[in-house]
Amino acid sequence: CGIFAYLNYQVPRTRKEIFETLVKGLQRLEYRGYDSAGVAVDGPSKTTTDINGSTICLIKKKGKVKALDEELYEKDSLDLDEELCTHFGIAHTRWATHGEPSALNSHPHRSDKDNEFVVIHNGIITNYKELKEYLITKGYEFESETDTEVIPKLIKYVYDNRETDNVTFSTVVERVIQQLEGAFALVFKSRHFPGEAVATRRGSPLLIGVRSEHELSTENIPIQYNSAHFKDGVQEKNSHNSVGDGRAVEYYFASDASAIIEHTNKVLYMEDDDIAVVIGGKLSIHRVNRRAGEDPVRAIQTLQ
Ligand code: GLU
Repeated sequence: CGIFAYLNYQVPRTRKEIFETLVKGLQRLEYRGYDSAGVAVDGPSKTTTDINGSTICLIKKKGKVKALDEELYEKDSLDLDEELCTHFGIAHTRWATHGEPSALNSHPHRSDKDNEFVVIHNGIITNYKELKEYLITKGYEFESETDTEVIPKLIKYVYDNRETDNVTFSTVVERVIQQLEGAFALVFKSRHFPGEAVATRRGSPLLIGVRSEHELSTENIPIQYNSAHFKDGVQEKNSHNSVGDGRAVEYYFASDASAIIEHTNKVLYMEDDDIAVVIGGKLSIHRVNRRAGEDPVRAIQTLQ
């Protein structure tokens, strides 16, 4: 029911500060109603691991955000004082549509036991049964009763079957949303793409707040149409098409502005099927296809 996510790029924050930001964001969304809550953050970095030295820790709880908040500080494995210079954390309050309210059914949902991909979702995936049946034939094991869980499974399936090693996070998400029917706002985090964020929506609201000490390089982001960056699976790197300049910047993703406004009044409202990507601190907006007559830019607006 409520989405909140926070990315700090080249802005040192302790894990405790990151938790506080995530929990406060969820509290601002509590009025929308919910039955459970959860977060995903980077875990302690391992020195030897197969995936970028990156781990993801999931903490989920039935009931109030307050109960989740208390649980966060009980995780002994998470060093609260550790300073993370670049980090992406995602948080969710759930209003169950498929599957009872429980810790297991609450979000974030994950691709597998190693948490390679995790996702938060608002909305309903109407074709989840077909997708689930297909993924089960491919060997995927489901742990929840939600419609949402097909999404992290599907993204792992697409990633594992990628045609090139240069595949980008947004390209994989594009392939996933082309299979989805229904309504969704989605935010993805992955061990394969540490420090990167991908968010998208169709029918459910999602906006992005930007906070930076310096002037933004642009207030109008031209959309990148992805037939170009699909060509060889490598994303175009055009600095004029992004915000952030790779300098210190913070991004906030939320279902509504009430969770963002205390941090920044610079916001971008995503439109249906927009894919927002943050890589190296730069935000860009992608779409699969250009539609006749559509606005080819997304403006960063200043809320009064
Ligand atoms: N349909 C999803 C579920 O039941 C998401 C519900 C929501 O928007 O909170 O888990």
